[in-house]
Amino acid sequence: MIMGRKEEVMEVLYKSTRSENAPVTASMAILKGLSEDGGLFVPTQIPKLDVKLSDLAQMSYQEVAYEVMSRFLSDFTEEELKSCIANAYDAKFDTEKIAPIKEVNGVYYLELFHGATIAFKDMALSILPHLMTTAAKKNQVKNEIVILTATSGDTGKAAMAGFADVPGTKIIVFYPKHGVSAIQEKQMVTQKGDNTYVVGITGNFDDAQTAVKKMFNDRQMAKELDAAGFQFSSANSINVGRLVPQVVYYVYAYATLLRDGKIQEGQKINVVVPTGNFGNILAAYYAKQMGLPIQKLICASNENKVLFDFFRTGTYDRRREFKLTSSPSMDILISSNLERLIYSLTGEDPKLCRQMMESLSKDGCYTITEEMREGLSDFYGNFCSEGETSEAISATFYGGGYVLDPHTAVAAGVYQKYLRQTEDSTVTVIASTASPYKFARSVMGAIDSTRYEGLGDFQLIEALTKVSGVPIPKAVEEIRTAPVLHDRVVDACDMPDTVREILGI
Ligand SMILES: *Cc1c(COP(=O)(O)O)cnc(C)c1O
Repeated sequence: MIMGRKEEVMEVLYKSTRSENAPVTASMAILKGLSEDGGLFVPTQIPKLDVKLSDLAQMSYQEVAYEVMSRFLSDFTEEELKSCIANAYDAKFDTEKIAPIKEVNGVYYLELFHGATIAFKDMALSILPHLMTTAAKKNQVKNEIVILTATSGDTGKAAMAGFADVPGTKIIVFYPKHGVSAIQEKQMVTQKGDNTYVVGITGNFDDAQTAVKKMFNDRQMAKELDAAGFQFSSANSINVGRLVPQVVYYVYAYATLLRDGKIQEGQKINVVVPTGNFGNILAAYYAKQMGLPIQKLICASNENKVLFDFFRTGTYDRRREFKLTSSPSMDILISSNLERLIYSLTGEDPKLCRQMMESLSKDGCYTITEEMREGLSDFYGNFCSEGETSEAISATFYGGGYVLDPHTAVAAGVYQKYLRQTEDSTVTVIASTASPYKFARSVMGAIDSTRYEGLGDFQLIEALTKVSGVPIPKAVEEIRTAPVLHDRVVDACDMPDTVREILGI
């Protein structure tokens, strides 16, 4: 078949942030995950959004996804990419809009939590498996892909939901048996799908993570796997196959506001993103570089405010106390995806980028040059304390009748600080990264601390549906009654043998 339109598309390749190694195709970048030199893959150029915004405004989520992703993944055929999109953004989402927008007191919340695990990681993890199996076919990889993941709770579940029953893949998730919440464990051990395996380990998250990394680097094990027709791959957030799908919803949000008459074509908007690993906000930065009219990228941190300090001082310093907060998915001291921004700020100098990243791992910090700091003017950074986060939840509930999860509340609180400092009246979209149902305890505590004290998890969920009027999502309803399908528990040191046993080798 001749793909007429495809021939007009400029080829985008992916190069490493840490060396001048030859760039690879998009499909290879997705298969490899990380460059061999330890760097991240970045596009050789950010493609232009060469579709009229008013045309995008008429499109469905899937159509916008195709317009955006085809520009980045230029070695995928139209047929391949459309099939990946159709398989990802389907009835797994509880709304046809996939990423609807809610207006609350003049602010627009882009709800990225309508997928299988009611958090924003579903946006990328629902398509990654399809991109990966398509990439494997394109590159004549005959082996079955085995995704190996260590999880502290959320990512493992979202990855499983994405890979469940995807032909040509298996997924094995290790979690600390005593290190995740009861609901998180229930979500994982009830996971369906003949190709999903969940294993608890007697150890902490670091033990699981370390053992997984070791298996990835174990050449002997790689040989054994290859002989049996398998190869490992990773679904972590630095994969290009997770980054590119995240650009889509910023374009779609703009298109939705335009269609609904909330903005004029070409009018600039601000975007606020609750940030941990810097993946979500980097996608917004790429959207801006594609030509989407974005003014400020507002980066919101919780009490682990490494990024706020970085934007303020030009020094990234992870040498500090790690704080456990009510927004656990943002409890991060090393924001891996920031490396892509650093690379861009250096004027794409892999040597300088490598130096900074090496100094981060050796000394725990690095400082960017004055010149590089000028490139940060697209960004505004701030943070919310635990008290401010809780206040944002109650203020938005009592003032707007809308219930925020703690991650989104961090963003809402930071946006209020931004408004007080700048009085900027630009139309603003807040990336809403999780359903409040995922964090019912913190949310109900913020709404009324005395009334909801001492209630069980499902009682809190009942209370939340009463006060918010939002129906309980299917994902929550299901785990109440779903049977436990996985009950394996092993020592961290036995993880490789467990993998062999699962694969029958
Ligand atoms: C992962 C996550 C974030 C942080 O996103 P990054 O891309 O890591 O910056 C924010 N909120 C929720 C609910 C998440 O799961």
